[in-house]
Amino acid sequence: MDVELIAPNGVKWTQPLGLFIDNEFVGSTGGKTITAVCPTSEEKICSVHAATAEDVDKAVKAARTAFKSPSWKKHGAKERGVLLNKLADLAEKNAEVLASLETWNNGKPYSLARYGDVGVSIDVLRYYAGWADKIHGQFIDCGPDKIAYTIKSPLGVVGQIIPWNFNNASVAVKLGPAIACGNTVVLKASEMCPLTALYWAKFVKEAGFPPGVINIINGYGPEAGAALASHLDVDKISFTGSTRTGKEILKLASLNMKNVTLETGGKSPAIIFEDADLDNAALWTNIGIMTNSGQVCSATSRILVHESIHDKFLEKFKAQGEKISVIGDPFEQTTTHGPQVSKVQYERVLSYLDSGKSEGAKLFMGGKAVPQGGKGFYVEPTVFTDVKSHMKIFREEIFGPCVVVVPFKTEEEALEIANDTNYGLNSAVFTSNIARAHRIAAGIDAGNVYINSVNNMDIRVPFGGTKQSGIGSELGEPCLATYTYNKSVFVNLAI
Ligand code: NAD
Repeated sequence: MDVELIAPNGVKWTQPLGLFIDNEFVGSTGGKTITAVCPTSEEKICSVHAATAEDVDKAVKAARTAFKSPSWKKHGAKERGVLLNKLADLAEKNAEVLASLETWNNGKPYSLARYGDVGVSIDVLRYYAGWADKIHGQFIDCGPDKIAYTIKSPLGVVGQIIPWNFNNASVAVKLGPAIACGNTVVLKASEMCPLTALYWAKFVKEAGFPPGVINIINGYGPEAGAALASHLDVDKISFTGSTRTGKEILKLASLNMKNVTLETGGKSPAIIFEDADLDNAALWTNIGIMTNSGQVCSATSRILVHESIHDKFLEKFKAQGEKISVIGDPFEQTTTHGPQVSKVQYERVLSYLDSGKSEGAKLFMGGKAVPQGGKGFYVEPTVFTDVKSHMKIFREEIFGPCVVVVPFKTEEEALEIANDTNYGLNSAVFTSNIARAHRIAAGIDAGNVYINSVNNMDIRVPFGGTKQSGIGSELGEPCLATYTYNKSVFVNLAI
């Protein structure tokens, strides 16, 4: 159930293909597979097993048995931290393989894969390993006759469903806090990039996790994902993906009133005032939209610019983009802009570019597919101007390297345009006026606000969205509360 793979950069490894359940790789019961494709060459890499509802049930049973077992209970908080640190050590030892997998199957430039994805995953696991033995309840003095204390109890079996855009970081962001809090997990990877999370499964047994504590499966969303989200013996679903699927998950989770965390899509604004350092704004807004070829949930895909600097900003944005967006083979060191992840995503992004043109927006730069040597799902960095608020390119998440630039006259108007969206994930404001920066931060509907930068995130700081960008947050200390419930214990002192 393994295959020997050699990535285009020459890195070799043994790739598991089965479903990782109860510390073993097993075949799927339905015989269905998922084919991993390289978005640069458009060639098949290999096929992995796809879970059926029956397989999901097996994984949930393994996680439940593990949750109840004395061997997991015996692993106290300190030991859970030790296990997470071992997982991080194994990821570090195998960083080259994990990054090569991500670049090969996802199309992400290698340095971004190595440091922005694998590097983040290692840091996140170590961060939550440190938290594992610092999760305490409270003691509450209730007067002379009674006392009370609270226990931060693990929820039980947690289902985790991840997208494809940062596979390594997603695995760690899901597993780290869930395990630190003492839960057991069934994690389903995305069918777009099924290899990376499965490689992590190899580390689970090696790190010493008891069987069933971490189960990692591949499967199609409507079948395996839905089976996990609706399973009556799953206590929580933590989902990262599109808003459309998030709404579906919420319905399925209601069947047994699961605890839910949703990290969903965005259409995030960056507001640039006339007093901003324009070179700094042009640099960060390029990073904000073009990183990972626009496939970042927190991408600032709507740039709102004060009318007095609109044209000057556009020229600077273009010049900066020409410097930092280098299209090419993602394994090349100089490449910063790889292909879209799949043919489906590529066609989806191109259809948005067509809709922008047909709805009457003006194409300022880019706007077309740019296969390299006749191959690959590459799309040029694209900017539209003269965009109206009813247009699809203003309203909908494109998840590609396409940004709209919209002028505004006043601070009030800037806020109104920024908040004219169903989403509320990310935002940025560029200004040298401190008071104005904080007024915007307070007034904007977004889970994250960056002042004079974009996506300059930190694993110690919570990340999440409001409105239709999600429920709850990940990273930082607050994420721990999403994987426990408060158990209040009263003691009668009057007997
Ligand atoms: P997606 O919603 O298509 O798929 C995400 C996951 O959900 C996959 O594992 C998929 O198999 C599963 N799924 C699909 N249908 C399902 C169903 N009916 N029931 C259960 N599971 C189902 O999203 P995607 O294309 O993989 O990822 C891109 C989206 O993810 C974008 O909208 C992006 O903004 C969002 N995202 C959000 C964050 C965040 O932190 N807010 C981070 C990364 C990506």
